Amino acid sequence: MDQFLLAFLLLIAYFMLLLFFRYLEIGKKQSDSNCNNYCPDCNAALNRVRRTKKDQLIHHFTFRMFDAKRYVCNECGWEGLRWDEQFKAR
Ligand SMILES: [Zn+2]
Repeated sequence: MDQFLLAFLLLIAYFMLLLFFRYLEIGKKQSDSNCNNYCPDCNAALNRVRRTKKDQLIHHFTFRMFDAKRYVCNECGWEGLRWDEQFKAR
């Protein structure tokens, strides 16, 4: 098969996978009226921290679809990326 075509098909497959992640709400913020961001492990409120270089790389590699931000939990030490439903108006 043509290498260019193969690369293109892989890109499409990757894009579909990302859409699937969004659809399944994998890594999405858990929120309700009391708290807009819960820890997935202990349900304490999470704190925003600065994004690392790796996080910014992920941000570009996911076509900026997720706008995930890095959070830490003060209770159990959980740390990771969470994304939100809304796209920010720039
Ligand atoms: Zn926690």
